[in-house]
Amino acid sequence: MAEQEDLEFGKADFVLLDNITTEDFLANMKLRFEKGRIYTYIGEVVVSVNPYKQLNIYGPQVVESYKGRELYERPPHLYAIADAAYKAMKRRSKDTCIVISGESGAGKTEASKLIMQYIAAITNPSQRQEVERVKNILLKSNCVLEAFGNAKTNRNDNSSRFGKYMDINFDFKGDPVGGHINNYLLEKSRVIFQQPGERNFHSFYQMLQGGQDQLLKSMRLQRDISRYEYLRQGSTGKDPGINDSGEFKNVAEAMKVIGFQADEVQTVYRILACILHLGDIKFGFEEEAVVITDDRIVAVLGELLSTSAEAVEKALLYRTVSTGRDIIDKGHSAQEAGYGRDALAKAIYERLFCWIVSKINSVIEVKDYDPRVHGKNTVIGVLDIYGFEIFDNNSFEQFCINYCNEKLQQLFIELVLKQEQEEYRNEGITWHDIDYFNNKVICDLVEQQHKGIISILDEACMNVGRVTDTMFLDTMDTKLGRHDHYTSRKFAAKDKTMDFGRHFRIRHYAGDVTYSVDGFIDKNKDTLFQDFKRLMYNSTNHVLKEMWPEGKLSITEVTKRPLTAATLFKNSMIALVEKLASKEPYYVRCVKPNEIKSPVQFNQERCLHQVGYLGLLENVRVRRAGFANRQLYTRFVQRYKMTCAFTWPNHMLPSDRDAAEKIVEQHGLQKDVAYGRTKIFIRTPRSLFMLEEARTAMI
Ligand code: ADP
Ligand code: MG
Repeated sequence: MAEQEDLEFGKADFVLLDNITTEDFLANMKLRFEKGRIYTYIGEVVVSVNPYKQLNIYGPQVVESYKGRELYERPPHLYAIADAAYKAMKRRSKDTCIVISGESGAGKTEASKLIMQYIAAITNPSQRQEVERVKNILLKSNCVLEAFGNAKTNRNDNSSRFGKYMDINFDFKGDPVGGHINNYLLEKSRVIFQQPGERNFHSFYQMLQGGQDQLLKSMRLQRDISRYEYLRQGSTGKDPGINDSGEFKNVAEAMKVIGFQADEVQTVYRILACILHLGDIKFGFEEEAVVITDDRIVAVLGELLSTSAEAVEKALLYRTVSTGRDIIDKGHSAQEAGYGRDALAKAIYERLFCWIVSKINSVIEVKDYDPRVHGKNTVIGVLDIYGFEIFDNNSFEQFCINYCNEKLQQLFIELVLKQEQEEYRNEGITWHDIDYFNNKVICDLVEQQHKGIISILDEACMNVGRVTDTMFLDTMDTKLGRHDHYTSRKFAAKDKTMDFGRHFRIRHYAGDVTYSVDGFIDKNKDTLFQDFKRLMYNSTNHVLKEMWPEGKLSITEVTKRPLTAATLFKNSMIALVEKLASKEPYYVRCVKPNEIKSPVQFNQERCLHQVGYLGLLENVRVRRAGFANRQLYTRFVQRYKMTCAFTWPNHMLPSDRDAAEKIVEQHGLQKDVAYGRTKIFIRTPRSLFMLEEARTAMI
């Protein structure tokens, strides 16, 4: 039966392949993709291939069939891994996390939603009201976060432009009682600029397409997307595949359910409107001074921000500086004014996004949890973060995103190996290491103190005087020229395929990426003139004011240099990795089958590349050299005792270990198992299937 399945649908676990070669691996992957079997295991890791079509494998009956089951009892599925993480959390009181990785468009966000839906579906059988409330908010938060944090890119129509790590807290009954979302670096440059073919964040289009006439009119907005500077650079905006107006209603409904007050929702719309109007502000010259060419926009901004038009105008044209003795208003050049306007637009969007996240957190935060009364509070974390990215133009954002993926790959290497090895050691079983490409060198190249790219960049940003992006590039060349994973024009001899110009290249674990150095310094400094912060803080709109607490400081009080964007990001990545490493990890490795979102094309070359850098083959080898399955003796005996006369219905042997040995002998599996201190280790899944079949035959 199992053999027949294999022939038709491929091996359910790559470990079962007769030969661990790239060809066989890919052939199995392709066959399963074509048969709609998009999930395949490598032991306890789920490899998922984006089907690019709706599959009928997520319904309530399917959920039911995975509930409480063991991995190998059912065909591979995300639900099985979600259940495994849930069981570990519930039975063993372990904090667990599910790390979803893969490149942009590979299916990470969809996987994270399916996992959350599964957990929501299998918990709270007694329908406790508070638990239902929390579950509902956790599920609804996705739609809001996607509206404000996702956008259409050339890789994915609904690409996450921020990283998300969500903790779900469970009580001793195993029901969700709260949660917390951490968000990572939103790609805010998208607010003011989009590459050809791409869009700004969904939220803008949703509001313009779905907002009622009354709402748009009150904010002086037109429905026509192409009227707005910030929306018309990359594409026409409307996308037949995206239902912006429908989503507007869903998001509004979700915000209501989550607990956003009506005036808060209004402020959200006003901020979006503000950004659109800001984008249309132009600066000109009049009587040797920089002026705003259209006063009407300034008046509208004053209204929307609940402040005066004069205050808006002043903040856009002047900067208050302290000369030591005096405080003076220094007029901007037209270029500075333009820079300030864009910086403001990006900053208010980013603030808005962070505020939305904190708002959601405030309503699902676990309050009054007393472990003495409620038992241990355990956590399942789900990580869905931007995947590895290579665009035609790669800038600071891609640099951060790709660094993040290096960190996660590093964690995978450490944990998958560490965990295996430790278990063998603890159980007293011999083991030989398997070679991996260790990407630690690349992490170091980016993050090392003093010598790494981020340190060099920070140093360039700290210099007073005009340090240019080119000077930053020169310093990198001097300090990193000899690094195996770094190349630039100076070292083009290493690579004659292109003219580097103002670019540098990093050989990432997932491939070479050439970054344009332009804008690195500005984006890293991330300057927002203090005048804008005060402008926001002085608004009579309390929601807006709340978002800008530091606007309270007067000019003389602001002295401390804030941390740079790259350093903040690096610190958040280090904290994230620590958090994940403290939990029992489960992995989902997503693969993108083709570049054209096709449900039928399996692009051999692209898949080969991903299988390569994800280290899937090495993963299989580690798994094969080790043992596919391990179970506590008690559990093993419980499960298979009916297949052996010595152990059925109950054994009289001195220990469960002895009983396990009897069962193994009965089936002639002696060569395929090893006996650890507390667990039996089964080398090949085939033996396990044999036991399972023997068991099924008995019941
Ligand atoms: P990522 O988060 O890795 O960038 P997404 O999860 O946004 O990728 O997936 C991109 C697109 O692929 C989705 O919008 C959806 O159309 C399709 N997709 C991904 N996973 C599935 C799935 N399990 N079933 C059907 N379609 C999927
Ligand atoms: Mg995503």
